[in-house]
Amino acid sequence: MKLTIIGAGPGGYETAVRASRLGMEVTIVSDGPVGGTCLNEGCIPTKSFCRNAEILEDLSDASAFGIDGLDYSFDFHKVVERKNAVVSQLRSGVEFLLKGKNITLKYGKASFKDGHTVMVNGEEIASDRIIIATGSYPASLPIPGSDMEGVMTSTEILDIESVPKRLCIIGAGVIGLEFASVFRTFGSEVTVLEFCKDILPRFDVDMSKRLKQCLLKKGIRIETSASVQGISKDDEGLMKVGYVKNGQNAEVLADKVLMAVGRRANVGSLNLSDAGIGFTAKGIAVNADMQTNVPNIYAIGDVNGGVMLAHVATFQGYRALNHISGVKDNIDFSIVPAAVFTNPEVAVVGRTEEDCKEEGIDFKCLKSSFRANGKAISMDSPEGFCKVLIAGDSVRDPFRPGQILGCHMFGAHSSDIIQEVCALMNQGASADDFRNIIHAHPTLGEVLQSAVQG
Ligand code: NAD
Repeated sequence: MKLTIIGAGPGGYETAVRASRLGMEVTIVSDGPVGGTCLNEGCIPTKSFCRNAEILEDLSDASAFGIDGLDYSFDFHKVVERKNAVVSQLRSGVEFLLKGKNITLKYGKASFKDGHTVMVNGEEIASDRIIIATGSYPASLPIPGSDMEGVMTSTEILDIESVPKRLCIIGAGVIGLEFASVFRTFGSEVTVLEFCKDILPRFDVDMSKRLKQCLLKKGIRIETSASVQGISKDDEGLMKVGYVKNGQNAEVLADKVLMAVGRRANVGSLNLSDAGIGFTAKGIAVNADMQTNVPNIYAIGDVNGGVMLAHVATFQGYRALNHISGVKDNIDFSIVPAAVFTNPEVAVVGRTEEDCKEEGIDFKCLKSSFRANGKAISMDSPEGFCKVLIAGDSVRDPFRPGQILGCHMFGAHSSDIIQEVCALMNQGASADDFRNIIHAHPTLGEVLQSAVQG
């Protein structure tokens, strides 16, 4: 079986490696460094910045731990250098994986000639199956000044020369808040402008309200219900971001502006129409097996306009491969964990209260606080809260009373802690099942136990 994969991000490269192990003859095409957005300009470099911010915060809190008289300075160039070294180390790992048996890596832009043929640098690559995994690119707002020098995307801010004195971030979604948290700790005066009435609009409302309080306490200014109208520059090069809030015009002065208003499916150069592949502005339409309307062509990850997360792309790739191989799998795409690497971190999985209400699912809400957790107090990380949603007594099929429906938390290491809930939800476990699982003490994982014990 000949398989061509277009795109070498966490969707494309993980799928290529698994397909080669299944004995398929794989060609993977990449128009940039392997690893895609996640490794080169997304998850990994931002996590490297997050670690710097964490160390800085620990240093500034050192006297609470009896450590006084510290003398240190902050060299942002070294922060960027370290980030580049992390990316480069991991990229070498992916390059090594793609040197494996049965895999050919080609650098270049791929475009469709027909439903079985892809062109790369003038060469025709014919295959039995094709998987499109071209990811996404940062969206911008159709407002005056959005392409002005000094307005950055999440890619450009990673290679910024110095920490801006004043940083204005448009969008309080995942990307906006991660950079707000990091750059505030690096010393920027940060203002976030969000169009919706809450930050992280699609997240649990209580959680987003409490996270907002934490971020405000750190000195981040957040304006919600703010409709950004335009960006301009004064004579001294200072940027002015104009917005309307409650019918009033207002503006934020900044040295740099970060545009973080979502991402768009990357379909531009693929020539999809020559292969007859259907797509909309949202992305390439696929069925539950990731098949496009052309049965031998699949689309996985951000490009299909679904949930834009690296791990979803990878598992969608596995689903496509399973379908190609005629194997039925149990991957449950309704149970997708997600994390936001602010400080403290946010982690979520499953339904929110709002989802349950909309779907008419009877539910109960169990809560706990990091303030009552021994490990969190010992770490001096008391900020945090956890909410576990379980099915109520009068819930109907396909749920059973007590079944875990979702979990929403923020607090230290939430992104690691939440995995346990994902595992339990995948087993269809109930709060009673959870209550019977012994947890080590003292650990942050006990935050979940405290919630379900009530
Ligand atoms: P997003 O959709 O998460 O957030 C965009 C935000 O911009 C929203 O809150 C939206 O209301 C706001 N917005 C839109 N128009 C606006 C306007 N005119 N003025 C002010 N605010 C406006 O998008 P993102 O943060 O850019 O992230 C893009 C994608 O990448 C998301 O799907 C995200 O899940 C993914 N991502 C995930 C992670 C992670 O898992 N840690 C990290 C980064 C990105």
